[in-house]
Amino acid sequence: MEAVENSSRSLNFIESIIEEDLKNNKNEGRVHFRFPPEPNGYLHIGHAKSICLNFGLAEKYHGKCNLRFDDTNPAKEDVEYVDAIKEDIKWLGFQWVDEPHYASDYFDQLYKWAIKLIQDGKAYVDEQPQEEISQQRGVPTRPGIESPHRNRPIEENLALFEKMKNGEVADGSMVLRAKVDMSSPNMHMRDPIMYRVLHAEHHRTGNKWNIYPIYDFAHGQSDYIEGITHSLCTLEFEIHRPLYDWYLNQIADGDYRPRQIEFARLNLSYTVMSKRKLLELVEKNMVTGWDDPRMPTISGLRRRGYTPESIRNFADRIGIAKRDNVIDVGLLEYSVREHLNQIAPRVFGVLDPVKLIITNYPKNKVEELELINNPEDPEGGSRMIPFTREVYIERNDFMEEPPKKFFRLGPGREVRLKGAYIVKCMDYKKDENGKITEIYCTYDPETKSGGNAQRKVKGTLHWVSAEHAIDAEVRLYDRLFTDEDPAGHKDKDFKEFINPDSLKILKHCKLEPSLKGVKPGDKFQFQRLGYFCVDNDSQPDHMVFNRTVPLRDSWKKKK
Ligand code: ATP
Ligand code: MG
Repeated sequence: MEAVENSSRSLNFIESIIEEDLKNNKNEGRVHFRFPPEPNGYLHIGHAKSICLNFGLAEKYHGKCNLRFDDTNPAKEDVEYVDAIKEDIKWLGFQWVDEPHYASDYFDQLYKWAIKLIQDGKAYVDEQPQEEISQQRGVPTRPGIESPHRNRPIEENLALFEKMKNGEVADGSMVLRAKVDMSSPNMHMRDPIMYRVLHAEHHRTGNKWNIYPIYDFAHGQSDYIEGITHSLCTLEFEIHRPLYDWYLNQIADGDYRPRQIEFARLNLSYTVMSKRKLLELVEKNMVTGWDDPRMPTISGLRRRGYTPESIRNFADRIGIAKRDNVIDVGLLEYSVREHLNQIAPRVFGVLDPVKLIITNYPKNKVEELELINNPEDPEGGSRMIPFTREVYIERNDFMEEPPKKFFRLGPGREVRLKGAYIVKCMDYKKDENGKITEIYCTYDPETKSGGNAQRKVKGTLHWVSAEHAIDAEVRLYDRLFTDEDPAGHKDKDFKEFINPDSLKILKHCKLEPSLKGVKPGDKFQFQRLGYFCVDNDSQPDHMVFNRTVPLRDSWKKKK
């Protein structure tokens, strides 16, 4: 196996380890990773970082990457999550080797290894309550207290463990503990729990088991069974590593050992990322579901209009570090803006329409004007859009008493209707509340876009022919939280920082007729407004668009 060259950036520390291993022909040159989600929620952007890392390294080094569901805790897990996780990984553009694996597939093998540890005098059944066990563990600076059951005979341990397994003892009444070191400064080595009793139905193994292995006893062994070479996890597991290695040393036959390597998790500003908190938002109906476009979940980002490429580029940009940091959510938004700028066709959409009537334009005339779809895309082509006497423009593109710097429309002022003509405002009408209802203009026929007489004006507005416009609902999103670190306050719950204005629904938007027939997921730049995509709720007779991001970072100036 050869290391891959042609990387434009320098190696991150994990790549350096891998290349060193390859050089030394460690594991006969095999590289094998895994992505190990617990199916207790939908994946979020933090998981995307881990997915891009693991599957990305497998691609780069011509290795493999498994998908393994870490389903050792039946209480919180669900098939709905399993399916959603698979879909999200595929959507990001990655494919695991073989069938997905499940930690629960290894329950028999793990059980056998537990028996082996008991037989080797390295594990025992403890009947003390959980609080007692925790208390005896003590503090890192002083040795803990050994359990009175620590040295019970092997036969007795085997018999009790058998009872645990057969469901003959109550939940929480006994645990199996590894006999490691009660005086270790690493608390995880102070006789950690391997198995607990839990009479719960598992989504795959049903009622077969009344005992379930703890993460630490399952993870490294699962890596070992699958032949994983580099087991990448987030920094909080660094302190678990000695235990990871200890278990493997008890059960492994030959020299092969998976190696655990820790990297910094992704933290994003203005976001919460723990699945427990995201679940709370869903259950308390503070969002419409896991795929609410305001959620930092992969399904939420997808519905919001993010592309897989933009998320992968983001993951690449933030890189892999050994120390925790917080990434500005603006960088994620930048990544999607950058990609959509390349791929999204430009269209006209008026979010808050007001009618503009061109009084000197013939009543029944329709001119088909040609507009470029995407100046960034040489193959983007062009489309025809109808121009008529009555068009809609954006309400805030007109001011009754515009200040000097306002280059859009006002009484007596001229603007260009993009791709069409220069118009001049002659008059306007208001209703009894002072709301503008109609704006009257004249147009200059000599100023047709693309024609010879190119008189210049400062403002250019987007517009939609009133007669041909399609009605649509548009949902504008803002950050879900008003605080940079909503979960970081000791005295306040993260939900207190929910942004009350995170969703604004506009029901009467007017879109150019070329948008007829678009499908959920289709993406566009509404010119001058931002990037939008068709929502899953959209129907042919009731179109719904989500704003993915505005054209510019509107939070930048707020700071
Ligand atoms: P959460 O704390 O959000 O519930 P988790 O770590 O419990 O996440 P898992 O399903 O166990 O979720 O995670 C699967 C993989 O994704 C693990 O390898 C984990 O390290 C990684 N992962 C989870 N969150 C992040 C993150 N914020 N940044 C990078 N990797 C992450
Ligand atoms: Mg976890």
